[in-house]
Amino acid sequence: MHTKRLSDHLHIIDLKPTGLENFIASYVLKGEKATAIIETGPTCSIPNLLSGLEEIGIRNEDVDYIMVSHIHIDHAGGSGTLMRHLPNARLIVHLRGAPHMIRPDKLWEQSKLVLGKVAIAYQEIEPVPENRVITPSDGAVFDLGGSVHVKVLETLGHASHHLAYYDTDSQGIFQGDAAGIYFPKLDATIPTAPAPFNLEMTLASLHKMTQLQPKRLYYTHYGPVENGLERLKRYEAQLHLWANVVSEAVKRGDTLESTYQQILEKDPQMKATADFIAKHLVLREGVALQNVHGYVEYFKKKSLA
Ligand SMILES: [Zn+2]
Repeated sequence: MHTKRLSDHLHIIDLKPTGLENFIASYVLKGEKATAIIETGPTCSIPNLLSGLEEIGIRNEDVDYIMVSHIHIDHAGGSGTLMRHLPNARLIVHLRGAPHMIRPDKLWEQSKLVLGKVAIAYQEIEPVPENRVITPSDGAVFDLGGSVHVKVLETLGHASHHLAYYDTDSQGIFQGDAAGIYFPKLDATIPTAPAPFNLEMTLASLHKMTQLQPKRLYYTHYGPVENGLERLKRYEAQLHLWANVVSEAVKRGDTLESTYQQILEKDPQMKATADFIAKHLVLREGVALQNVHGYVEYFKKKSLA
């Protein structure tokens, strides 16, 4: 069993990429007339996603939409492979991300460059047929039937091609990487800020999400949480804390490693995750240092502007 029922309409599937549990989630949202999958994970986890659908009792031909938050390999890399199995599904993706899903060669090369061994483990990105792609505008609503509507929220900052999805039925937001990575067992988040990270845009996106006063958040990394609004505010405070530490470190010319250590000392949430992160290759190389690096690059660019 790697699925869990969250409500009458909503299930979570643990995609377990490279066997790593509780790291990448896919959500399945089912209305009276349509079904959507939110996030695909990378190519290597599509077999787990498909067996998850079977476990929930959803037939492949009944999936109408695949909604991805953004085109990074851990969120959308499996889209092309998944769509070969779901004959009626269309991909919902940000306008700026769509060309890279249709012709993923550059995205794949970039993924290998940034993530190295982790990208290879995630496996190559297959193209998505152009006629099966939808690029909604900010605020667009998808009616899945009954009480289930999904509102698209353009939420830039983590990436220039990021969308979040608000589920009116559960009053929860599938926020992709717009509000950090959550470690359920540690009850801590860390920022999702790889270069080219934009702090102002991330804060504006957070503001857009807090306006909805969400009751819950559905983290891709990882899992559902209650008190969505408070979680967003706590994340905002963490982003400011990192900004204070990193802007000073950049002024002094500190190394990346030293900056990382300073964050570990000053951010209790980061400290709580330190041992866990150190144990996993994907987290250490693909996440923690990348995020500090993204912050450093952001403040370096700012000091030059
Ligand atoms: Zn991610």
